[in-house]
Amino acid sequence: MKILVINAGSSSLKYQLFDMEKGEVMSKGGCERIGAGGSITHKVPGQENYSMDVDLPTHDEALQLVFSLLTDKVHGVISGIDEISAVGHRVAHGGEKYTKSSRVDKELIDYLETIVPINPLHGPPAILGMRACLRLLPNVPQVAVFDTSFYSEIEDYRYIYALPYEYYTEDKIRRYGFHGTSHRYVSQKTAEVLGKDIKDLKMITCHLGNGSSITAVDGGKAIDTSMGFTPQEGIAMGTRSGSIDPTIIPYIMKKRNISPDEMSDVLNKKSGLLGITGLSNDFRNCLAAAQSGNKRAELALKILANGIKKHIGAYAAEMNGLDVLVFTAGIGENQSEIRRMTCENMEWLGIEIDNDKNDNFTRGVPFDITKEGSKVKVMIVPTDEEYMIALDTQSLVK
Ligand code: ADP
Repeated sequence: MKILVINAGSSSLKYQLFDMEKGEVMSKGGCERIGAGGSITHKVPGQENYSMDVDLPTHDEALQLVFSLLTDKVHGVISGIDEISAVGHRVAHGGEKYTKSSRVDKELIDYLETIVPINPLHGPPAILGMRACLRLLPNVPQVAVFDTSFYSEIEDYRYIYALPYEYYTEDKIRRYGFHGTSHRYVSQKTAEVLGKDIKDLKMITCHLGNGSSITAVDGGKAIDTSMGFTPQEGIAMGTRSGSIDPTIIPYIMKKRNISPDEMSDVLNKKSGLLGITGLSNDFRNCLAAAQSGNKRAELALKILANGIKKHIGAYAAEMNGLDVLVFTAGIGENQSEIRRMTCENMEWLGIEIDNDKNDNFTRGVPFDITKEGSKVKVMIVPTDEEYMIALDTQSLVK
């Protein structure tokens, strides 16, 4: 079975084609600058990458180009588009209705339209991508996999904010949680690698990338997570502030005469590592600056590590224990320094890492960095959201 996974952004469309029998990626790539020019990069394992600039007015043209490259005589990997058995779509937000991966139909798209006001950035492009696929592949089953659905069993006292209750009932203000597909994948993979039944494990998964979130996974179910109503809540990120005292917002808006949109832009795009350092949102640059003595970069790393540490402590308390701590995504998988800073002085909680293993880890595979005698296992587990989407799609269309 061949499954195409689509991740549509407002001006981009990423794709991966999986051969599910072999568990392999046959091809992957992405279109950029849709609606404002256009380009594509198409990759096939073992071949040179293929890139070109091409006019892509809408997501329809982008998808058509993807299909023509996948079936191309030189760059293609399948002989015809009819070889694709199903399409899986990455959808950030399923609202309160879609609590698990679901077949894409009119009812689903109509519902997602109704929650665009609470998902204005990611909702419209995901809908565009699904509509384009339905038009171009009307006979191929399509599945939507939601980032929020992993959190559908979180208890109300963990997702209701202490605000007037009508904000929840009338305005849909609650914690939803994000990155669920990644947390679900790494928690399952970790249990598999450890040869344990996930039902017997209390885990904390730290997805640390440009956007970062931390999730408590008890017995395979997410019981709490750091992101909330939007992916803004939680720890400091590349350009997002994470949680702050909410009163800062009206105070600074009045003081600096900032509009709601400008304020939102500051919180989303000008804060986090970039805001603190004034240099970069990229962890690598902040680390290099800190190592060469930049005090604000040093401070940013401490703020990040302390934020992660506080969530680990809180989630261990909520779960009444902890068996495994997992690091994943760009920073979690690649940056030994943040893992070291986070796990430092956590012996009381049973967390001790082997600094040698942490520094000399093998990239791209699950890797155990636990110090001998540590009560809690500490693992690096590469995430693979696209493969998780392909697996859900396969199980729904089978
Ligand atoms: P996104 O949230 O956009 O998917 P990533 O998960 O790729 O982001 O994470 C981006 C962050 O991870 C950056 O801050 C970057 O410094 C770091 N990162 C990504 N890849 C590497 C790498 N190979 N080595 C070191 N740091 C990396």
